[in-house]
Amino acid sequence: MAASYTSALAEELAPDVLDRFLRYVRIDTQSRQDRTSSPSTTGQLELGRVLVAELEAAGLGDVHLDENGYVLGTLPGNGAAGGDIIGLIAHMDTSPDAPGRGVEPLVHRSYDGGVIELPREGTVLDPTAMPELADRIGHDIVTSSGDTLLGADDKAGVAEIMAGVAHLAAHPELPRPTLRVAFTPDEEIGEGATLFDIDRFGARCAYTLDGSDLGELQDETFSAVEAILTVDGVEVHPGQATGKLVNALRLAARIVAALPCDTLTPETTEGRGGFIHPTKMTGTAGKAQVRFIVRDFDDDLLARHVARLERTANDVLAAEPRARLDLKLREQYRNMRRYLDDVPDVTDAAEAAIRAEGIEPIRRPIRGGTDGSRLSEMGLPTPNIFTGGHEYHSVREWASVQDMAAAAAVVVRLAEVWSRDGGDG
Ligand SMILES: [Zn+2]
Repeated sequence: MAASYTSALAEELAPDVLDRFLRYVRIDTQSRQDRTSSPSTTGQLELGRVLVAELEAAGLGDVHLDENGYVLGTLPGNGAAGGDIIGLIAHMDTSPDAPGRGVEPLVHRSYDGGVIELPREGTVLDPTAMPELADRIGHDIVTSSGDTLLGADDKAGVAEIMAGVAHLAAHPELPRPTLRVAFTPDEEIGEGATLFDIDRFGARCAYTLDGSDLGELQDETFSAVEAILTVDGVEVHPGQATGKLVNALRLAARIVAALPCDTLTPETTEGRGGFIHPTKMTGTAGKAQVRFIVRDFDDDLLARHVARLERTANDVLAAEPRARLDLKLREQYRNMRRYLDDVPDVTDAAEAAIRAEGIEPIRRPIRGGTDGSRLSEMGLPTPNIFTGGHEYHSVREWASVQDMAAAAAVVVRLAEVWSRDGGDG
């Protein structure tokens, strides 16, 4: 076995994982904000049809692409204790935050530890700025060509689940519970769980493969609110504006400037620190809009951040009675921890599977959300497992073939853990 693999099983699965991954990332599945249909973009259906064909070819049953763009399939169990149904979930879409069309993946075999220069846009991966990359000497590293994201988030997860269940289907001697697979659309725009039919899915719990570094196991996410702030000013031709124009853009900028900037921002916090983060500002002198995301692990602190945003906006607008303010709040997802604490065997089983692959589990809260945040709240407990991808939502995104293979092997181990004794590990 090559030294960089976590097990002989991972080494065996690696070619299949890589082959699938390279096929999936070439399909443009970038999702789009403010969707009017599910999925938000047709490329996701194209990948969905590919996955349906591959699940059928692997021998899964009940495979279909549903009316909302979810791919579902079932691998029946083979006599596992208890008859538990366990779910495996990954999302098909990629982030709208970086170019996602025309991905041309590159495989850098046997990484030597140096700077990786990509052919387009002068993009470089510098191991001095990326400690995880510096740790991957000898690995096969997959990148984009430098002008797009790679799409390891979350096609690494899709490829790992596919390779894992295909291996299980081809090896009926390996014990497994009934496995239900779901590939979801529109996770990156916060809609992955919205039309997920958990009753039809029928699993007692599930696992997303949507994490990052080798060994990560996450049962805690942010709680999240989106705030859309609209300022209506008074638009007048600048030539006749004296004493009449009320500039909405200027007021919106003042609100952003009045928010804390050396604390309560994503760039100044880490670990469990929450934030108020302006993500988009648009407008004219007459009307301006700022979109914020507000995050914290603690629901009370989250409510305080939202109240602070509201108070700041009101204070700024108080000085200009001719302007009008509208603040729309939308709850996006809740910290999954409170739901997972009630069913400790679910996270324990994942921990046992990661250990069975020879990896020490890393438990750290996600400074973000996953499909599992909403699904756990909806009644399907769903912690998150690593994929081996890094630098998500950027043109520097990369993934280790060896770590992706380890994640696929964890899928196989997870089946074994759940068939052994109902997941008590
Ligand atoms: Zn993701």
